[in-house]
Amino acid sequence: MRVLVIEDDDAIAEPLERGLAHEGFAVTRLALGGDALALIDRDTSFDVVLLDLGLPDMDGFSVCRQIRERSEIPVIVVSARGDEVDRVVGLELGADDYVVKPFGFRELVARIRAVARRSGADRSTDEETRVDLGHGLVIDNRSRRVTHDGEELALTRKEFDLLALLAEDPGATFTREVILERVWDPHWYGPTKTLDVHIAALRRKLGDPSIIETVRGVGFRLRGPS
Ligand code: CA
Repeated sequence: MRVLVIEDDDAIAEPLERGLAHEGFAVTRLALGGDALALIDRDTSFDVVLLDLGLPDMDGFSVCRQIRERSEIPVIVVSARGDEVDRVVGLELGADDYVVKPFGFRELVARIRAVARRSGADRSTDEETRVDLGHGLVIDNRSRRVTHDGEELALTRKEFDLLALLAEDPGATFTREVILERVWDPHWYGPTKTLDVHIAALRRKLGDPSIIETVRGVGFRLRGPS
């Protein structure tokens, strides 16, 4: 899937670009609304546009309206402003979804997939969305459900995101920094104790604490396939 990111702030755009590329998206990033509109004039093959409202050259709402005049590409508005008026205006101008900064990376990816799916752009198969972790555990990224021997586990959103991240590469160690960046926020400066609390809760709910291994001083990994 091709994602066009329109964002002028490098501190947001760079980790976002890296993360999306890691998720398998082809990312094009532009910092100016005018450049983005010029690109869309030539190329309407993007599957999703992520549009920052606070751009240096144009009002983000105006960019949104003009994208809609030029193409059917779904637009997710990304804004530092969380108020309801902005949300309503964004959606009235044809945006498909609205995300408020700071946002969690996994939440954003879920929304990109949801918007793309509604527009028919997401052609990923069930095999890619369902991951069999072994030990009777199956994770379904599409419905965001985890089952253990067919019984659904009641995970919180963060617990699910955490497990989904580790399940991307069973056996590989994810550092605390990467986990905090990807599951919580691209700019997480809060206490990292939160991560340990979530890991503990997840282990308890999975019913087998050894499924998530601690790599001392580094991070965590899912027990690899035996
Ligand atoms: Ca901005």
